[in-house]
Amino acid sequence: MLIDIGVNLTHPSFDKDRDAVIAAAEKAGVCPLIITGTSVEESRSAYDCAVGLAGRCFTTAGVHPHEAYDCGADAIPRLRELARFPQVVAIGECGLDYNRDYSPRPVQRKWFEKQVLLACELNMPLFLHERDAFDDFVAILEQNCPKTVKKVAHCFTAHEKELFKYLELGCYIGITGWVCDERRGAHLLPLLKYIPADRLMLETDSPFLTPRSLPCAHSRNTPSNLVHIAETVSTALGKTFAELSAETFRNSREFFGINRV
Ligand SMILES: [Zn+2]
Repeated sequence: MLIDIGVNLTHPSFDKDRDAVIAAAEKAGVCPLIITGTSVEESRSAYDCAVGLAGRCFTTAGVHPHEAYDCGADAIPRLRELARFPQVVAIGECGLDYNRDYSPRPVQRKWFEKQVLLACELNMPLFLHERDAFDDFVAILEQNCPKTVKKVAHCFTAHEKELFKYLELGCYIGITGWVCDERRGAHLLPLLKYIPADRLMLETDSPFLTPRSLPCAHSRNTPSNLVHIAETVSTALGKTFAELSAETFRNSREFFGINRV
């Protein structure tokens, strides 16, 4: 069994067959799914989706840096409200993205910091996104977030320096199908061995990032493809598939506090 810790299940590309996608993932051994909340509205939709699928889907509640420009004064109270529900298992995804800069950087920093403080207040895990913003991202975590608050650097695609700093900050590391990309992700394979076995988690980031080493590389990504990512990672680590699945399953369940499955 595997847990996909990052599925954008409220994405419109799943509107026609969301139930079939979840059923196919379960058939492939991927269950439960953690839906990623990317704005206050999306987090609400993700929660509605998770409620209808008790025990098979959980969700995060947060605002992605791309959406930070749209945050109003009620954003944090509304996320706090959502976070009360047992289906909501982390705050995020939140962080900084200076690669696209869809929101002005000071606005990104403001809302990232507020969400870090919310996670600290509620003692909930943080689901973190960082692209090309390492220094500011680390500074905000160091100034606002004690090590005791659990956090995952989702979709890790960076290099050794960033990896070691994240581990030092107490981060878990989320690995996506980026690791299957021979052009952009080959550098990740030799780094995997530096991630302690009790800090590694797996995710598809569906419908994005379809593993390039799959025949369906040009179509929509789905959580079933987590099996392929786990195979790639276990081969790179010289572990059996069963060993790696058991480790990452346990890590994900403990990290998100999912004790029912
Ligand atoms: Zn992300």
